[in-house]
Amino acid sequence: MSRIKLAIVGLGKIARDQHIPACTANDDFELVAVASPHDQLDGVQSFPSIAELLEAVPAVTAVSLCTPPQVRYETARYALEHGRHVLLEKPPGVTMGEIQDLAELALSQGVTLFAAWHSRHAPAVEPARAWLERRRLRSVKITWKEDVRVWHPGQRWIWQPGGLGVFDPGINAFSILTHIIPGVYRLCAADLSYPANCDTPIAAHLVLVGPQAVPTTMELDFLYEGAPSWDIVVETDGGRLHLSRGGQQLHVDDHPLSTPDRSEYTSVYAHFADLVRERRLDVDIAPLQLVADAFLSGRRIPVAAFVG
Ligand code: NAP
Repeated sequence: MSRIKLAIVGLGKIARDQHIPACTANDDFELVAVASPHDQLDGVQSFPSIAELLEAVPAVTAVSLCTPPQVRYETARYALEHGRHVLLEKPPGVTMGEIQDLAELALSQGVTLFAAWHSRHAPAVEPARAWLERRRLRSVKITWKEDVRVWHPGQRWIWQPGGLGVFDPGINAFSILTHIIPGVYRLCAADLSYPANCDTPIAAHLVLVGPQAVPTTMELDFLYEGAPSWDIVVETDGGRLHLSRGGQQLHVDDHPLSTPDRSEYTSVYAHFADLVRERRLDVDIAPLQLVADAFLSGRRIPVAAFVG
């Protein structure tokens, strides 16, 4: 099989930290070009936009879109219209309609669309799902707290419409939750704290009812200094499951459970290669649906302006 000629669009933090190492380590891919408005990658053909990239390097067959979410739709649409397979970083778009439109376009073009929820590929997530499958659920508590100044320095897009604010990391928790406990979640209440100078929330408290009528709470905080907390605790009839470090570690009743030795993005690219070979779609909107529900029904609490 020939290698998939890949381009990365949006040469920022996640592209450099994860996508470039993961795709270059995967023999199914050959990174042949990148596009980003103000940046270049040493040793790889670099262009300011996807249009210029595809014009100059027509051999590209797949693109990974690592831009801020606000420009994802236009970029994805351009790639799909030009017959390329597309990986969307999370969140896959800023509205539900965008994603449905892209999925229809990918189907009509006969190419792959992969809405990549990277946290679902964390090593402890699949073992957690398997353990929970056989249990009666009693409660779910999600705590997702980090310091935005440490983890997202200078990223103004997070505070602009479509940037999700604290739900940018929070949607990772939803992506894990909807995978380890699949089913319908009904949002009962959402308090969303908006800084005076931002269009997206900096903290949130959510109350939901999940599958098996399980009471579910979520605490999100973007001003949490110290070690981040990326935890999901599920009380069940068979004990207490604790998924920590964003899906990297798993404990049941404080005893560690073994997890596979693999990185999230290694698994993301292995799955993308399978999807491309089979020309399949993998587009799950459940995590974005929950964020949309919070924005639809949430109570807005004004808080002090954010100083980055
Ligand atoms: P970032 O550091 O701000 O990088 C975004 C990059 O996209 C920048 O280099 C930006 O260029 C470029 N860009 C903007 N508009 C573009 C366009 N029209 N065409 C091509 N490139 C464009 O953001 P990030 O942290 O990497 O996050 C990107 C996405 O990945 C977000 O959706 C985020 O939720 C997701 N993600 C981030 C992380 C993380 O740890 N940071 C983890 C997982 C997923 P300029 O800055 O030069 O304008």
